Amino acid sequence: MPNKEMLLIPGPTPVIDPIYKALAQETRSHTDPRFAELYTSAISKTKEMLQTDGETFVISGSGTLAMEMALVNTVAPGEKLLVISQGFFGDRFSKLGAAFGIEVETVQSEWGKQVSPAEVEKKLKKGGFKAVTITHADTSTGVKADLDSLIPVIKKYDALVILDGVCATAAMEENMGKAYGGNPAYKIDVVLTGSQKAIGVPPGIAVVAFNQTALAAREKLGKVPAYYCDIYNWLPVMHDPQKYFATPAINLVYAYELGMRLVLEEGLENRYERHEKFGRAVRAALKAYGMTPLAEEKVAAPTLSCILYPEGVNDAAFRKQLAGKGLIVAGALAHLAGKAFRIGHMGNTTKEMLEKAVRFIGETLNEMGYSANVDGAIARFQEEFSKVPV
Ligand SMILES: *Cc1c(COP(=O)(O)O)cnc(C)c1O
Repeated sequence: MPNKEMLLIPGPTPVIDPIYKALAQETRSHTDPRFAELYTSAISKTKEMLQTDGETFVISGSGTLAMEMALVNTVAPGEKLLVISQGFFGDRFSKLGAAFGIEVETVQSEWGKQVSPAEVEKKLKKGGFKAVTITHADTSTGVKADLDSLIPVIKKYDALVILDGVCATAAMEENMGKAYGGNPAYKIDVVLTGSQKAIGVPPGIAVVAFNQTALAAREKLGKVPAYYCDIYNWLPVMHDPQKYFATPAINLVYAYELGMRLVLEEGLENRYERHEKFGRAVRAALKAYGMTPLAEEKVAAPTLSCILYPEGVNDAAFRKQLAGKGLIVAGALAHLAGKAFRIGHMGNTTKEMLEKAVRFIGETLNEMGYSANVDGAIARFQEEFSKVPV
């Protein structure tokens, strides 16, 4: 059965019946050839999704583990990392870098805004940066990164591009084969992600893909300050899942493999378009209630939105009332706590679910003494949804 509650937070996201069924299959040995075949399929479908020529790691862990794995295998303690931060999850890279003795510098945008390529270039000009991290969609602010303008700048200075795709992968283009700025050397080197956001599988699978450039960087490092996160410990398993390094989350691999099949069946382009429409329609409808998306439309992520309340709305009361109707949204982080809420519109979320969410939000505002035109907001939702994305 699909989720009874509408779990419209920025992850975990709604899980559908076939994925729950996949999870509930019999737990087998990690060396069972039937499981190995499935694991191989999960890895190769992930490669297909990301279009990488390198190595892809599908292991147990959350998105943060994937961030750690991306970092420790590319940047050594003492080397320089530039973090492009458009919110809380960008900042997490700075903390991670510091934990490993990496020299971190940050280019930070005001929350709700994008970092400009010019600011990034100003930092990179100082020289010596081994890698740059980009958060594709920052889950705290609902701001997306502009890869087309950032990657050519980063590559001009020969740094590795590490892309945090948690909250974006399978909903926003992350094509490791794409030559940015038309230059075949200008590519995304590492993509990392988690299962529970735009992929729509329960939490617990961490994914990291390295291209040949990133793999060469790993080789140069020799030893890395990690064991579970050292990609060299996982490489033999990724090539032959009957080999053992650490027990995979068998049942989650069943679910993730199906998740990948569903992503590829729907088609990446279709998914990108669906999420664009979701984001635009949700924000337009909520604006009709006098709510304000934190990010301007042109920098807003298709997968989730951070929405500022109209004056005076009590955040806890609002979300509690919504939860009573079966709609779960998330509070905002850091200085926006209490002033905004976050709504996810990704993965297995449907148009019908989002329309219902718009209705419930309007009804809740009315119950709290505001005057929200529910039908007007639904009409705005429909109107934006029917537009073809440019
Ligand atoms: C959720 C999220 C993470 C952290 O993932 P966990 O699974 O919670 O560890 C990292 N980056 C982004 C952009 C996220 O949305």
